[in-house]
Amino acid sequence: MNSGQTQFQASCHCGAVRFQVRLTEGLGSARRCNCSYCSMRGAVAVTAAVGDLTITAGEEWLTLYQFNTMQAKHYFCSKCGIYTHHQRRSNPDEYSVNAACLDGVSPFDFPEVPVNEGRSHPCDRPAGSGPDIAGYLRYFPLTADWKPR
Ligand SMILES: [Zn+2]
Repeated sequence: MNSGQTQFQASCHCGAVRFQVRLTEGLGSARRCNCSYCSMRGAVAVTAAVGDLTITAGEEWLTLYQFNTMQAKHYFCSKCGIYTHHQRRSNPDEYSVNAACLDGVSPFDFPEVPVNEGRSHPCDRPAGSGPDIAGYLRYFPLTADWKPR
């Protein structure tokens, strides 16, 4: 993973859906979210402007899922089920993109990922009424000298 990289080719697991994307803040924008949907989905997401993501193949395989306020638009591949991106409720000019779909990027490349406070969405409460980050998820790769405890 090259943390300064902003331009990526990307695809779902089966490869039916392919896209190219420019990440606004590179991989530094990596986040998870604790809302009811993201908690189940479990993806690390990065940020792109809506105009900076282009579906290059398989747009017909994308399925749209919406719930609750029906504002966010969550897309996934209807063939392999993998989440590719969603249009944000908090900023409809932005997409969240599944970091795991990016060529050369793994969710386990991120040692620490902030978790957004999505259970109490920023759009549903007064500004500054609580923290926007609920916590952090950490990943420690095993080292070669690992032994069972
Ligand atoms: Zn697929």
